[in-house]
Amino acid sequence: MAGKIPRSFIDDLLARLDIVELIDARVKLKKQGKNYGACCPFHNEKTPSFSVSQEKQFYHCFGCGAHGNAIDFVMEFDRLEFVEAIEELASQLGLDVPREQSGGAPKGPYARSDQKRDLYQMMGQIAQFYQSGLRSEAGKVAIDYLKGRGLSGEIVQKFGIGYVADEWDQVRTRFGRDNASQQALVSTGMLIENDNGRRYDRFRGRVMFPIRDRRGRVIGFGGRVLGDGTPKYLNSPETPIFHKGRELYALYEVLQAHRTQTTSGG
Ligand SMILES: [Zn+2]
Repeated sequence: MAGKIPRSFIDDLLARLDIVELIDARVKLKKQGKNYGACCPFHNEKTPSFSVSQEKQFYHCFGCGAHGNAIDFVMEFDRLEFVEAIEELASQLGLDVPREQSGGAPKGPYARSDQKRDLYQMMGQIAQFYQSGLRSEAGKVAIDYLKGRGLSGEIVQKFGIGYVADEWDQVRTRFGRDNASQQALVSTGMLIENDNGRRYDRFRGRVMFPIRDRRGRVIGFGGRVLGDGTPKYLNSPETPIFHKGRELYALYEVLQAHRTQTTSGG
């Protein structure tokens, strides 16, 4: 299990990195006296107010106030979470990220980053499968529902909305071919395992809305039941890649809002 990343490792990592080199690889920097400057990557501007100090190993934007060290920059620019940013930078330097042994299990479900990569990939494939469900014979009822809600085909496509037929084993038979993949499906909440160890699809007979993280990866789903089933809305549970506290909202709430606005805002 993962412990905390030791502070000493983070300090060491920062000491080995050069923030000028790191940022210059992403945003072309120009030497300005002691510091380096560029147009800020975090807000729109025509005259450069973004400054990087090699001496202090900090960046600062006089326009929008963005500032921080190399880790902050990678988090913001590459849209990574803290631990992901550390892992990314460490791997660039060929370092393994150590973990503290003590401190007990981390809060909530957890997976290693290589396991997470597999989970993201699996969720993306399931999202595609749901999307193809809209084009199936059984999916007509979902198309009717979406039309009734005033959603254009373009919106449906843009948000990757799909449909899953009212059956117990659509996802299990397609994505859970062996025990390991079934366990991965259970860990992402796509399958439910009952007391007898029987595994079955969580989402059945629903219009499916993928929930994405900031990087656009599918991390969970919201499902709106068609017909009289309950609950009306069902979300993925807390999983190693879906942390409800950190995610903004389920997509169908965006869509609800979309109905009452004149512009969708992209
Ligand atoms: Zn700025």
